[in-house]
Amino acid sequence: MHVVLVGAGIIGLVTAFELHSRGVEVTICDPDPASGASHAAAGMLAPASEIVWGQDPLHALMADSAALYPQLVGRIEQVTGKRPAYRQNPTMVIAAEQADRQALEELQQVRQELGLPSEVLLGSQARRREPALASNIAGALVFAADHQIDPRSLTAILVEYFDSRLVRELVTEVLPAGNGRPAVRTAGGRVIDADQVLLSTGLQQIPGTPALPLRAVYGDILRLDIPGHLQPLITHTVRGLVHRRPVYLVPREDGSIVLGASSREDGNEMVSVEAMYTLLDDARRLVPGIMDASLREVIARARPGTPDDAPIIDRIDPALVVANGFFRHGVLLAPLGARLAADLLLDEPPDERTAALGLRRFATTDTRRNLG
Ligand SMILES: Cc1cc2nc3c(=O)[nH]c(=O)nc-3n(C[C@H](O)[C@H](O)[C@H](O)COP(=O)(O)OP(=O)(O)OC[C@H]3O[C@@H](n4cnc5c(N)ncnc54)[C@H](O)[C@@H]3O)c2cc1C
Repeated sequence: MHVVLVGAGIIGLVTAFELHSRGVEVTICDPDPASGASHAAAGMLAPASEIVWGQDPLHALMADSAALYPQLVGRIEQVTGKRPAYRQNPTMVIAAEQADRQALEELQQVRQELGLPSEVLLGSQARRREPALASNIAGALVFAADHQIDPRSLTAILVEYFDSRLVRELVTEVLPAGNGRPAVRTAGGRVIDADQVLLSTGLQQIPGTPALPLRAVYGDILRLDIPGHLQPLITHTVRGLVHRRPVYLVPREDGSIVLGASSREDGNEMVSVEAMYTLLDDARRLVPGIMDASLREVIARARPGTPDDAPIIDRIDPALVVANGFFRHGVLLAPLGARLAADLLLDEPPDERTAALGLRRFATTDTRRNLG
């Protein structure tokens, strides 16, 4: 069995690793591996602190996938000899002011109804645990099980591991199976035969393949270097609501901090100065010490959003599977998404979770007919 994976973001790469672990031959095509949304992501694995009211099916996927992370990281280390930067530090959600505290209480109620444990702290208690927090914060919730991974470390390990299986070219066409095997054609004119093809190209869609209902939700995100004498500035992932605007600070193993992220649907691929300014201003209200940091990087990338915020994992035709639309949670959902996509590619008995992730859930009667 030979699977060609088109797109080497976190979804394509972790699915390639899953398939490879099951003894499948893989070829991965991408002109610039791990340069899309996966390059920007903070890597919060936050099924509890990121839930949104009314998205229960998505929460279940998020929780299932978070639980798979320790095993995935262990398997990657065993096979490659390199350990991805996975940290099991807790997450603290802060209310900056009394008005934000009310929003926090509402969110806690939602979490309680879903059985997600959190610890409620007064502002003073939160500061005892995280002394760099501002002196006037109104309160906090702690989620011990919301962890993080540096997606760049994970993807870099897999890009290196699959180096000989990587074709660094754009795929311009997927050739249908017809009576023979399916194949992909690259911009350089190569035709690569396959038994199955997986499409995980994020927002870029390949002409001739079924159009996916994706929208670009841009996120600006910063990376800060903290001076040695202030490290570690924070030990929790600190998420906050400042005037009801979300902001987060994720502490990396090397002492740096990832500060994010905006959410824009304005079509601007460049970094937004307004978004960057607002993020910094909101973050310094939670952790004033970031004003002593150096700005290492600021970038913007687009999250591939779907109409219901859940991914699309579906078989499109007998030789073609799609895994896309992971929106805000592609890093978190990668282990589970990879398993579900691999099951589809290998015609394993269907997992009941995949039924809810099909493209048909968005189809009108006409397009449903076209989809067969
Ligand atoms: C600012 C920001 C912060 C985020 N934070 C988090 C977070 O904390 N936690 C979380 O879980 N998620 C987070 N996300 C979301 C997460 O980054 C995405 O859901 C995830 O990266 C999607 O991965 P992907 O592999 O589908 O897409 P991508 O990473 O975009 O990869 C797609 C790949 O396909 C390749 N490609 C495109 N077209 C072709 C073609 N024709 N031929 C070959 N290759 C092609 C591209 O070069 C690219 O490498 C964040 C996103 C952003 C923008």
